[in-house]
Amino acid sequence: MRVRCILCEKIDTLNDESLFAKRLRNRPIHTYMCETCYARIERKTKERLATGKFRFYRSSKHETEW
Ligand SMILES: [Zn+2]
Repeated sequence: MRVRCILCEKIDTLNDESLFAKRLRNRPIHTYMCETCYARIERKTKERLATGKFRFYRSSKHETEW
């Protein structure tokens, strides 16, 4: 089956027998993300988490030394 990435609109071909293709077919909305975009999103999420932790660390450092 052919799928289009929702972010960069790149067309990928999935193996129809793959678990991912089966899962995607069961869902009417197309939420496919290519590997590149998926990796990018994942990295952004991690970066945001890291930033949050960093801020938390900075603000709490004023009060207590861990
Ligand atoms: Zn993409």
